[in-house]
Amino acid sequence: MQYKIGCQQRPLQIAIIGSGPSGFYAAEGLFRQKEFHVEVDMFERLPTPYGLIRAGVAPDHQLIKSVTKIYEKIALRPEFRFWGNVELGKHVTKAELLERFDAVLYAVGAQVDRGLGIPGADLLGSYSATEFIGWYNGHPDYKDMKFDFSARKVAVIGMGNVAIDIARILAKTPEELAVTDIPQHVLDQIRRSQVEDIYLFARRGPMQVAFTPPEAKELMELEKAIPVVNPTELKLEYFSEKILEKSQERRVIQLLEFLNTISKNDPASKPRRIHFCFRRSPQEIYGNKGTVCGLKVARNELFEDEEGSLKSRETDVFEELGIQLVFRCIGYKVEPLPDVAFDSARGTIANIGGRVVEVGSQKPCPGEYVTGWAKRGPTGVIGTNKPDALETVGFLLKDFRNRETEVNKRPQEEVIADLLKTHQVPFVPFEEWKILDQLELEEGERKDKPREKVTTVEEMLKIIQEKKSEDANHGK
Ligand SMILES: Cc1cc2nc3c(=O)[nH]c(=O)nc-3n(C[C@H](O)[C@H](O)[C@H](O)COP(=O)(O)OP(=O)(O)OC[C@H]3O[C@@H](n4cnc5c(N)ncnc54)[C@H](O)[C@@H]3O)c2cc1C
Repeated sequence: MQYKIGCQQRPLQIAIIGSGPSGFYAAEGLFRQKEFHVEVDMFERLPTPYGLIRAGVAPDHQLIKSVTKIYEKIALRPEFRFWGNVELGKHVTKAELLERFDAVLYAVGAQVDRGLGIPGADLLGSYSATEFIGWYNGHPDYKDMKFDFSARKVAVIGMGNVAIDIARILAKTPEELAVTDIPQHVLDQIRRSQVEDIYLFARRGPMQVAFTPPEAKELMELEKAIPVVNPTELKLEYFSEKILEKSQERRVIQLLEFLNTISKNDPASKPRRIHFCFRRSPQEIYGNKGTVCGLKVARNELFEDEEGSLKSRETDVFEELGIQLVFRCIGYKVEPLPDVAFDSARGTIANIGGRVVEVGSQKPCPGEYVTGWAKRGPTGVIGTNKPDALETVGFLLKDFRNRETEVNKRPQEEVIADLLKTHQVPFVPFEEWKILDQLELEEGERKDKPREKVTTVEEMLKIIQEKKSEDANHGK
């Protein structure tokens, strides 16, 4: 017997891959509409949900992380199932999911850094933002990283909010960090930090930087560090002045005010300094016995191109700094998924408005959709992912209007559990993540911090298993 897909007897069955903001906003959009009954199964490669909210957003930005309360409400709906510790491409294939779901929606984010492409970028002491941020946020992939904090001079290449996060974490004292959810082993390493000078480098001028005023303001409130800039760096070129006069953009005006204020700061007034360096391009990271010992940067000049936008070009004026640690913060890259169409020119999963399409012909790939950073590239804040997800969901629902199929013979939960058991994947459902969540919160409370994260997958699975055995013994 045929049923309309999305009726009560045969809900629209969607697999969402990835549990970051875009995945949860897509689930929310699917549940909010009234036309279809929908079931969502969310697959996440880690046992823990929430993507960059847990592993990217800075540990001292707990208020921002509290958005997960909204995601948890979605996860607790009866039509939602979470399958943690399951990676598409490793534990399950796209074909296996397309056989069992009406549609697969990729919300996998942008997991790797863009390369810096200069000599010395691979030396010991030169790290990507992903590595450092993953480490200080307790992401299991980066647990064993070691950073040499005997370094006194550190370079952060880039001047977006992610670069500012890194500079702020490096600048904070152990006491300031101890009240965040930074993991204990990270705090223990940072406690030994000798860092005195943190240099932030931007290719273009003060008017073109990407960070935002609230992040700038926080730098004024650090206990033992002070932001500084040489006033000569702030002189705007004629083109910049012209653009500023015309646009009067609030964010830019506030940032220029911030920079003017800090240009009066006394660098000797605190033991740590954050230096803002504009119009510089890194040329080479110098090494000694395989370890970073310096950085060569070129001075840039700005010019207006034919389309009237402001570009930078290197001059033949160079500077050398005795840097001992480098963090490369020049943006993220979407990694292709196995068998999923990838648009190399845009650097995203190939799509039009969230419908995955074949590269070249642009023909839709039936049943495949994408949202978030994987759809539009690594730009935008948490909130940007909501309208983005709703656009994708809108197209998905349109594609399933008036489609018919047979009723499933078995509940979807059993079908998926069987698939994962066949592949011997120790999957983590949402209630098991909550065991871990509870334990992390309790451990945090004991230490006067928001949470103490568990940072290896083995330990996470062990804790869950032990708690389940304990409950079973108590007949719970
Ligand atoms: C360092 C950093 C700090 C930031 N701070 C802020 C901030 O303070 N405020 C703000 O508004 N925005 C911030 N952002 C931006 C915000 O985090 C992003 O807009 C948002 O996380 C993008 O959501 P997403 O769902 O597309 O990707 P993600 O959040 O990256 O989620 C993707 C998820 O997919 C999972 N995954 C990947 N591949 C697979 C696979 N093959 N199988 C199963 N699962 C998979 C990943 O493990 C991850 O959980 C920050 C970003 C970064 C990088």
